[in-house]
Amino acid sequence: MATEDVRTEFKAWAEENWDPDLTMAEWWKRMADAQWTAPHWPEPYGKGLSPQDAAAVREVLGEIGAPGPPAGLGYMLAGPTIIAHGNDEQKARYLPGILSGQVAWCQLFSEPGAGSDLASLQCKAVKDGEEWIVNGQKVWTSGGMQADLGMLLARTNPDAPKHKGISYFAIEMDQPGVEVRPLREMTGRALFNEVFFSDARVNDDALIGGLNEGWGGALTTLANERVGLGGGAGGGAVGVAPGRKGGNLDKRAGDVGARSTRGQSGTAAAMGARGAKMLLKLAKDMGRNNDPIIRQKLAELYSLDEISRFTQLRAKSAIAAGGRPGPEASTGKLTISNITRRSRDLGLQILGAMGMLTGADAPLNGMVQEMAIFSPAVSIYGGSDEVQHNIIGERVLGLPKEPGSDKDVPFRDLKVGTQR
Ligand SMILES: Cc1cc2nc3c(=O)[nH]c(=O)nc-3n(C[C@H](O)[C@H](O)[C@H](O)COP(=O)(O)OP(=O)(O)OC[C@H]3O[C@@H](n4cnc5c(N)ncnc54)[C@H](O)[C@@H]3O)c2cc1C
Repeated sequence: MATEDVRTEFKAWAEENWDPDLTMAEWWKRMADAQWTAPHWPEPYGKGLSPQDAAAVREVLGEIGAPGPPAGLGYMLAGPTIIAHGNDEQKARYLPGILSGQVAWCQLFSEPGAGSDLASLQCKAVKDGEEWIVNGQKVWTSGGMQADLGMLLARTNPDAPKHKGISYFAIEMDQPGVEVRPLREMTGRALFNEVFFSDARVNDDALIGGLNEGWGGALTTLANERVGLGGGAGGGAVGVAPGRKGGNLDKRAGDVGARSTRGQSGTAAAMGARGAKMLLKLAKDMGRNNDPIIRQKLAELYSLDEISRFTQLRAKSAIAAGGRPGPEASTGKLTISNITRRSRDLGLQILGAMGMLTGADAPLNGMVQEMAIFSPAVSIYGGSDEVQHNIIGERVLGLPKEPGSDKDVPFRDLKVGTQR
């Protein structure tokens, strides 16, 4: 089907079904029942559309002022990972909750001693009958306070080399053995958290992708993260946090669709990712659009935005075709870091002294300032810029791999492993 036909079909459906007086829960359920929430997911959960067609659906949602699919890590990471590695029973158990926005997920990967070198993770799960007992610590867990379920990487075989003894679980966050402690960022908010597991429990049927096969699932999650964060999708609907604890389910969908975007780090990141149009409007509003230097920088930013959008579509197409994206996931992620820095600098240049204001006192409700403070995060999460450079060096330029003697050594015998 051509993209225009998809737009027409979805517009017709939306005309019948979009009603601003629905609650968010009702709106998301309607979209999910009609398979429009994630139209790029395979049947019966989605419609198997191409990423480009799915982007067109999102654009229509934006045009009619309707909120988009549930935002967050369930939709972006857990769903695609379960589709790729979960069994049918797990797909039926987890995917509907993501699509209807009833269930929020967090990503329990990073640890104090395992970020870029994720396979050094020490959090462990030990089998106890039909359950696993989990002990250890995670950190930088975005949305941990709001999450119902977590994508947990835990070590299940310390005798295997570090990449080979890891399993991937869907763990319930609301249980006595899980403690979530917020970490305050320089934005003033606490987006991410520390999570402590003390004899937490997870059922064996929540093991995704097979025992000790978690690294494959982790790679799928990380590939989707890089592509998802690669942004630049242009226009589209407002993303709304899912889950009971997110507090949006009972809100009027029309109010949420039109809501102010102030005060949200995710939105600030999105602005960095596709900010040229917004900054163009800002420059016009402030009478700076005739300044030759600002015009030049706006044109550069617009070009980068467009290149980034096409790169992201390429990477998403690779995922939709059943593979993993190649180096375009890394170049896309690096481009977003670059775009974010440029957007920050240009935004503050346009604002001039007004850049010192915040919140409702500032133009665009303080979005540029939000982005400026949030911008360092973009070069870190989803794999830092340096790590993306390494991937490009090795996989595109054919440079020698980073030296590492620990790949075939049992985790237990590594220095990090002996600290457990
Ligand atoms: C806003 C935000 C949200 C996040 N949300 C989540 C989340 O929800 N769940 C989750 O699990 N994690 C999350 N993270 C964590 C993120 O994935 C890690 O911060 C990231 O992988 C880097 O790991 P690290 O912080 O341990 O840094 P380190 O790995 O310790 O790196 C420190 C520095 O060394 C550099 N470095 C490391 N290794 C190499 C190398 N081999 N070559 C060259 N340079 C290298 C890095 O680039 C970096 O500059 C989040 C991070 C941020 C900033």
